[in-house]
Amino acid sequence: MRFLTLRDIDVTSKRVLVREDFNVPLKDGKVADETRIDASLETLRHLRRNDARIVLMSHLGRPDGKRDPKLSLKPVAERLSAKLGVAVQFADDCIGRPVEAQTQALKDGEVMLLENLRFHPEEEANDSMFARALAKNGDIYVNDAFGTAHRAHASTEGVAHLMPAVAGFLMQKELDALARLVDDPVQPYVCAIGGAKVADKVGVFDCLLERVSAFVIGGGMANTFLAAKGIDIGKSLHDSDLSHAKNIITVASQRGVPLHLPEDIVVADGFDADDTAQTVALDQVGERMILDIGPQTGKNYAGVILGAKTIVFNGPMGVYEKGKYQAGTRAILEAIAEATKNGAISVVGGGDAAAAAHMLGFDGAVTHVSTGGGATLEFLEGKTLPGVAALEQAAEAKR
Ligand code: AMP
Repeated sequence: MRFLTLRDIDVTSKRVLVREDFNVPLKDGKVADETRIDASLETLRHLRRNDARIVLMSHLGRPDGKRDPKLSLKPVAERLSAKLGVAVQFADDCIGRPVEAQTQALKDGEVMLLENLRFHPEEEANDSMFARALAKNGDIYVNDAFGTAHRAHASTEGVAHLMPAVAGFLMQKELDALARLVDDPVQPYVCAIGGAKVADKVGVFDCLLERVSAFVIGGGMANTFLAAKGIDIGKSLHDSDLSHAKNIITVASQRGVPLHLPEDIVVADGFDADDTAQTVALDQVGERMILDIGPQTGKNYAGVILGAKTIVFNGPMGVYEKGKYQAGTRAILEAIAEATKNGAISVVGGGDAAAAAHMLGFDGAVTHVSTGGGATLEFLEGKTLPGVAALEQAAEAKR
């Protein structure tokens, strides 16, 4: 990756327009989870220490191009003020003369946040006039929104072509960590993959099949593979199109990459019938639903993980949100934590993997927890992220 970073530029007294990913969950008008705000602080503190004039922009939710007071970024400005120890000014739009004037009035070290970019349909359309209007709010562009880097929007792509453009520290950290999973990873390399959205992760399989020594598979993903092998999975969640799974089974066997699947599972009569939860062998599902891997499978998977030097955890092994179906995901995370202690590189990311690791308390026990969902998956698929490509082109143009 050949882009410039914050370390390559002088930001003193400059208006630095930073694309953040402040797409945080809100509850009753308050920020319900501050992970993404916390992830932005290293870049913002660096900019303040260096007397930049900081203009922040982000999207929040899906207002579909219309102003929606419920999706205002104002609550984020309040939390940021507390965390940075400076009153973060708020602009009630992200473009226009008054906003530009407000940015021009900023003093060294001051911070302002622009209103939700997606109140304008031109943002997601990557409209060039809109990108130009955004660019008027700064002298230098910093992209630190890794979670949105897979989208070619005006604030992530268009604007990078209009002014000096560099990556922030979060963007850099994410890309460095994820690159270790794709560019010549240390072997043995194990991918623990699960979750519900099978179709979303087919591309990850295709790319990682060329790189990993084994997959351990759980969640709805495992159900789909079991169904593809002709095993009766009852009412379990799975992808109705089994062709992808069948193809992956063929390619994996040609390449000699083991696809480990559950041999025991936790089943219940239905999604909300926790009282009926029971551990059974694979041929005992009947008309029930598989909701977690079983304890023997957890042990087997842990053994595979403990032998690895590189590990990616890409989706929960079961319905980890419920106590009865947490054990499988916990067993895998415990093994990843131990392997990490023994020197393995471990990355958690994509889909709900980070949420599961956070909920079960494993944030600090792995090498890196990615803040991206879709962006992380697309990176692991080997796709070019438009937000990153734009930074590379900006660096190239400067040479
Ligand atoms: P993803 O975003 O694809 O990583 O999917 C995460 C979701 O998958 C979580 O909400 C889990 O509860 C759910 N999940 C995991 N295993 C299963 C399963 N066997 N059946 C139904 N949902 C599952």
